[in-house]
Amino acid sequence: MKKDDIKNIKQLLETPKQIVIVPHKNPDGDAIGSTLGLYHYLLKHKHQATVIAPNDYPDFLKWMPEEPKILKYDSQKEPSDMLIAKADIIFTLDFNALNRTGDMEDALSASDAIKIMIDHHQQPENYAVYSYSDVSMSSTCEMVYNFIDMLGDKNLINEAIASCLYAGILTDTGSFRFPSTTSKTHEVAGYLIDKGANHSEIYNQIFDNNSYERLQLLGRALSNLKVLPEYRTAYITLTQDELNEYNFKKGDTEGFVNYGLSLNNIIFAAIFIEDTQNNIIKISLRSKGSFSVNEFSRAHFEGGGHTNAAGGKSNLDLKSTVENFISILPSYKNALNNE
Ligand code: 5GP
Ligand code: MN
Repeated sequence: MKKDDIKNIKQLLETPKQIVIVPHKNPDGDAIGSTLGLYHYLLKHKHQATVIAPNDYPDFLKWMPEEPKILKYDSQKEPSDMLIAKADIIFTLDFNALNRTGDMEDALSASDAIKIMIDHHQQPENYAVYSYSDVSMSSTCEMVYNFIDMLGDKNLINEAIASCLYAGILTDTGSFRFPSTTSKTHEVAGYLIDKGANHSEIYNQIFDNNSYERLQLLGRALSNLKVLPEYRTAYITLTQDELNEYNFKKGDTEGFVNYGLSLNNIIFAAIFIEDTQNNIIKISLRSKGSFSVNEFSRAHFEGGGHTNAAGGKSNLDLKSTVENFISILPSYKNALNNE
């Protein structure tokens, strides 16, 4: 972020403002952690701030301080639209294009609040007055830490801010294992622990909070796992019937796609999840090394994300989607085998 931008933002935040903070649709740990972390920081400067999420998120994120104050746009449209319309500033966190907020897009576009983007996804759109975009960052939470630091307020980081930001760093780095994790990421995590983030408890809240049914669903997903050795690819499918059988709840399939990548010699993993309500197949893609699932998803599945983690969707049925996926792989055979 440019020095002048920081100077301007600092000035802007000197007097109390009406602020809305928005994560992407289907928010994950980094989206909720970064928006709530920033929320707690803005409260310290006496702003009126509200986090408005496009829709609900998994229960394993619902321990974060003041999480119950988050508005959900899909079920609380009226108060949300009012806050968006009268906001002085809108922070958009952990996404790179307004359409990633789903039905909130129109209200956000229509608002003439000053928009500030903080994000680490590739190919950011140019809708914000101030953009802090860095695709090399482990997480938006690490960036919110940097943002607070750039504003000279590192000392204001308290237990609430630290816990939220730590949670997002933890989830977006795959517990500090993805290549985007740097020594700086660990330094930031260390600082957050010093400020009160209880790393062990946060890990338990997020990862040791499984329902019995979720583990059974994981068992089903793993038995559906298919391997295509010549493309170093593995994929999982889950039908709506399978999800129903195990009483699927939001977040239950989070992380399943990574099991494909844990296979010896596999560098590309996908999961295809049938969603009959929205009449789509939701796709998650993961890779190792330089094979870009962001590019792959943009080219074939109306999505995007990062080099090693991206999402997308298909309007075909599950079987045709998988057939389509398999038919695309030969054109990537060299790329997949050159890793
Ligand atoms: P996931 O597979 O966990 O849903 O998402 C992996 C990454 O890709 C996340 O950083 C997420 O924000 C991004 N992502 C997921 N779905 C989409 C999509 O439809 N479009 C774009 N541009 N990014 C996505
Ligand atoms: Mn993120």
